[in-house]
Amino acid sequence: MEIELDRAKCTGLGICESLAPDVFEVDESGELAVMSWTVPQGQEADVEAAVAGCPTEALKLRP
Ligand code: SF4
Repeated sequence: MEIELDRAKCTGLGICESLAPDVFEVDESGELAVMSWTVPQGQEADVEAAVAGCPTEALKLRP
């Protein structure tokens, strides 16, 4: 699975980071960094929770 991010929608609040901290990281300026655009093995559930939990629907998953 691949992660898609719509930066225009991302507000940098970091809910995704709290749900999948190995994949998402928000820096001090509120910029979201995605550590791996391919969902790492074993991280599927966390990343799915992060995508579902993003309040602005900035994240999507592509098979
Ligand atoms: S939860 Fe959504 S809006 Fe918040 S930092 Fe992550 S991608 Fe951006």
